[in-house]
Amino acid sequence: MPSEPCISRRGLLATGAAGALAPLVGPPAAFAQNHAPKPNSGHYRFRIGDIAATVVSDGTLTGNPRIYAYSAPPDELSRALNDAFLPVDRYKLNLNTLLLESGGKKILIEAGAAQTLGPDGGHLFTNLAAIGIQPDDIDAIVITHTHPDHVGNLCRADGSSAFPKAAVYVPEDDWTFFIRNEPDLSRLPMPEDFRRAFIANIKRSVTPIAKSAVLFRPGSELLPGVTTIAASGHTPGMSAILIHSGRQQLLITSDAAYSPLLNIDNSWRPGPDLDPESASQARKRLFDRAATDRIPVLGFHFPFPGIGNIRMTDGAYRWVASNWQFES
Ligand SMILES: [Zn+2]
Repeated sequence: MPSEPCISRRGLLATGAAGALAPLVGPPAAFAQNHAPKPNSGHYRFRIGDIAATVVSDGTLTGNPRIYAYSAPPDELSRALNDAFLPVDRYKLNLNTLLLESGGKKILIEAGAAQTLGPDGGHLFTNLAAIGIQPDDIDAIVITHTHPDHVGNLCRADGSSAFPKAAVYVPEDDWTFFIRNEPDLSRLPMPEDFRRAFIANIKRSVTPIAKSAVLFRPGSELLPGVTTIAASGHTPGMSAILIHSGRQQLLITSDAAYSPLLNIDNSWRPGPDLDPESASQARKRLFDRAATDRIPVLGFHFPFPGIGNIRMTDGAYRWVASNWQFES
């Protein structure tokens, strides 16, 4: 018996049979659009006592690993990245903002980067919309420090406020240093043109809140369940934040560390710390507190969703990422 001729897809197209057999050779365009693979979730829900918490991603930014591990000997840094199955010439940071819903209020911790430090930020609005939240729904935003990746989304492309109904809380010492004055960042390892753009992005991002920003000094309960903790060094006013409800807590370390691999499992110092000595003291205070009191930690730049614990071992620290949980 003769076998069936093998008809290739190319053959079908060439013989004009493609129209009749369209479902066999590929879906119509509308079908493909509706069933295009969607990206993974940009949000992660959990609870802190009575507070409903959701990490909402603004995306990522990418830089040279040396920026985030400035004190690392180059060969040790390359080895650590290689051992972690990561590229040695670039390092990706996440942008993990945190939404808190409690007592009928919605509070956002950090505004995120927009495109102030690269093209991969600015997903906050899409990811908020995916959980049914519009910018107008946000009652308050707490900024830990005024680097561009923490304030970028405050300002729309047209210069207007992206969160018109939100009270925006900003550390007073950062406002004085970056906004009221011309900041001297000459100590930071950045090329001059990058430094200028960095400062311009900060000033532009806070323009819509120039008159309305609520300035704070860390060390007290700013909003119910949101207590600020002085952690200056990375910037003059940087504030860590303790979220608390009942017996449950979450410690937001902001940019005390950029990366569990580079700044916790290895104790390398980030290059952008303006006052390295104060920053390393703040880092140690926060890590010691998290380890001693077994408080879960959220790192703004840690791999999404950025939640885990810090363990102390013989004077060194170890990051233990939390297990993913499906229930919120
Ligand atoms: Zn940052």
